[in-house]
Order: sequence, then C-alpha cells, then structure tokens
Amino acid sequence: MLVVKLLLCYLLLKEVQPLSGNFWHITDLHWDPTYTLTNAPELVCASSGKRPAPNAGQFGDYECDSPWHLINSSVYAMKDILPDPDFIVWTGDDTPHVPNEDLGEDAVLDIISNLTHVIKHVFPRTKVYSALGNHDYHPKNQLPAGPNNIYSQTAQMWKDWLELPSQETFKKGGYYTERLLGQPGLRMLVLNTNLYYDQNKLNVALDDPASQFSWADHVLTEAAKNKEKVYIIGHVPPGFFEKKRSKPWFVPKFNQKYVDLIQRHHSVILGQFFGHHHTDSFRMFYSSEGSPISTMFLSPGVTPWKTTLPGVVDGANNPGIRVFEYDTKTLLVKDVVTYYLNLTYANMARGRWEKEYRLTESYRVPDASPASMHQVLERIANDHCYLQKYYEYNSVSYDLSECDSDCRVDHVCAAREVDYTRYEHCLAKEGAAAIYGGLLPVLSAVLSLVLSSR
Ligand SMILES: [Zn+2]
Ligand SMILES: [Zn+2]
Repeated sequence: MLVVKLLLCYLLLKEVQPLSGNFWHITDLHWDPTYTLTNAPELVCASSGKRPAPNAGQFGDYECDSPWHLINSSVYAMKDILPDPDFIVWTGDDTPHVPNEDLGEDAVLDIISNLTHVIKHVFPRTKVYSALGNHDYHPKNQLPAGPNNIYSQTAQMWKDWLELPSQETFKKGGYYTERLLGQPGLRMLVLNTNLYYDQNKLNVALDDPASQFSWADHVLTEAAKNKEKVYIIGHVPPGFFEKKRSKPWFVPKFNQKYVDLIQRHHSVILGQFFGHHHTDSFRMFYSSEGSPISTMFLSPGVTPWKTTLPGVVDGANNPGIRVFEYDTKTLLVKDVVTYYLNLTYANMARGRWEKEYRLTESYRVPDASPASMHQVLERIANDHCYLQKYYEYNSVSYDLSECDSDCRVDHVCAAREVDYTRYEHCLAKEGAAAIYGGLLPVLSAVLSLVLSSR
C-alpha cells in the first residue's frame, strides 16, 4: 500500500514540477597545431603573428590560439562537470588565426575532423548540434551560398549527428533544422550566418544567400502552426561588438532581415545561442512597443587568443565553457552556468576548470527569460557594481580593470540594440547621459560654492 502511495506521490510531483534539462554550449575552439613550447617567445605559435609569448605554458597563452592540450582539457572538463547533457551545441571556429597561405582546404578539413573526433570520443552517445564558423572555410570568411567541398565533407564528418534531410540542406547552404532530440513540439534551427558576415565578399550583392532567410521564415511559420518551440544556433551574431564602438558584423541589409525574422517569429523562439566574439555577452531583441521578446546568448570561446582587431586594447580572455539549464517542455532558459580555466594558474600549477558564475545568482533574477535578461541589462546599465561584475565576466575574468563611462556605453548599447540605427541613437543618448551624469557633481560643487560665498 505504501508503495502505491509513494508511486502516486511521485507521479503527482512529476506532473506539477517543470522538467529541467541541461546542455553544453562550446564555441571558438580555434586549435593552433603549431603551438609549441620553445625558447623563442615569438615562435611559440603561428596565431600570435610574431607577438612574443614569453610566459607560454602547456595550457596555452593569451597571445595564441588553443594548443591541443587545452582543447582536450576543455572537452574532458565538460565530461567531468556534466557527463550526460541532453545535447551539445557547438558553434564553430575551429582553425587558428593565421594567414590563408598557412592553411588551405585540406588543413581546415583536417582540423574540423580532429575536433569532431575528440568530441565524439568523449561524448559517444550525445547528440551534437553543430554550426560552421567563419574560420571553418578556406579561404577564411568566404563561405559560399551554394554546394562546395567543405560543406559536403563536413556533412560527412557530422553524419552521425545529422538526420538525412539535414545532411542535404547542410551540403547546399551549411544550415539545417530538426526536431530537438527528435521530440514533437521542440525544434533546433542551425544557421549559417557566415553568409551575412561583412568580410564575406561572395554574397554582398545577393538578397537572400542560399535562400536561408526564406527557408528560416518557412521553418518558423510551420513551427508556429505545429505549436513548436525553437532554439536557434549560429556563429557570427547580428548587431555590434561590445569591445569596439560601432563595429558591426553583418552586411547592413542582412542585419535588418535578421532583426525582422526574430520580431516576426519571436513567439516560437525560446533562445538564440551564438559565438564568434570569444567574450561573454548577450543581445536583447524588443518588440516595436519596446517589450523584451528574445535573447541571444553569446558564449565565451575556448581560445584565449588576444584579438588583433584595431581599437581593442588587451582583448584576450580565459577559456570558457557553458551549461544552459532549460525547461524540457517549454524550452524556457532557466539558468546559465559558466565554467572557466584561469590560464595563468593552469600553466603555473594545474589545469583546474571551475565555476565562474551562475547567472541567476550573480544578477539576482529568477531565470534567463527575455524579461529577466532585460532586468539584467537594466542593472548593468544603471548600477556600477553590476556593470563591473558583467565586465569581468565579459573576458571570463581575464580583464579586471575598471569599466569606465565609455566602456559602459559600448557594452550597454551593444546588448540593447541589434538594429544599426537604434544602436547609433543609443550611443548618443547614453553618451549624453554619461556627460551630464559626470557634470552633475561638478555643477553641484560650483553651486554650493556660489551659495556659501553669499
Ligand atoms: Zn572565433
Ligand atoms: Zn568567428
């Protein structure tokens, strides 16, 4: 009798409790096969471009892309921390930051293959949703809007992870969609946004490269009809880089189309997961009435490589990997937990991956829904303590310097406005607020002086 009662209790509880699941997101592994510990600091790795790396260690160096030891360590850390995730999201950029002449098509495919193997070896039974990055092509950034050898070879490498129709669309345009884990009511949409990258010279004149927008529009329309919930993953995000003012990634017309797509279909989109920045940030999407409708999570990279983008000062990061906790029925993103390797410590002592932070704890929000992420953004925008905390997480606890008023404007406007015109307006508004805010203490001091002199 007791057993029956317990069983009933269990079933009742199961009914009312939202089911919680989790998945890994890894991105920007950027393996540099040339990494070697030598006495010539400028020869440690090709990806440093001759920048000296005098403190290089076995886990890597901030001037360099990832040595194999770091790649291996990150994948095994995933296994140690959460060995049985529901699935893995992997959003590309596998090859090192070196000139095209130093790679070639075979080298690129070889690198993608090696990374695919280690993930498969460590997670043999886990479904992986995988998107191409702008570095997963030769020449880099020039991903075509039609069939080519790299798309078909990669589809072959990933065939255990791709259903048959996915293999077909992937070979044509590097994108695909499937029911999430084959479940009715849930869907994954994997985009090839490298087609919209402003460094990609092939597609600028096209309206809809590889017909990806019309395809995505159709998939999302069908999803609404079938009452499905959707996650979108991709590599290059729309909007601006938060570490460099007015630095967008997409060709303007494609940025507009992306924003339109999300605004049209936000009711079925429960999360967007992208990489490319190597930093930890997020982007908000708002309705025309101004309510938060969607969030794009930008996960930090595994590579610690200091960017050479002009205008970015000290743009390195610690290696990061990330777990998303979600409701397995509604796909609501409940929490985000970021793990990282302190590279300096790892090279000096041992490679210890540890929790960096849990989103709901650090920002004091109930979950990671668009409404909560809007709250997070408002805290960052209006409270210096939250801004500083966010800023340290942004480089995965690498850059612990103070985020000043210019820095605040760059980060807040990049997160708030994906649309190009609205971003410029945000800069003007927040910049002016910073000037007046800075002037306020001066004005009041002058005023009190005047008053006291009377
Ligand atoms: Zn990258
Ligand atoms: Zn990239």
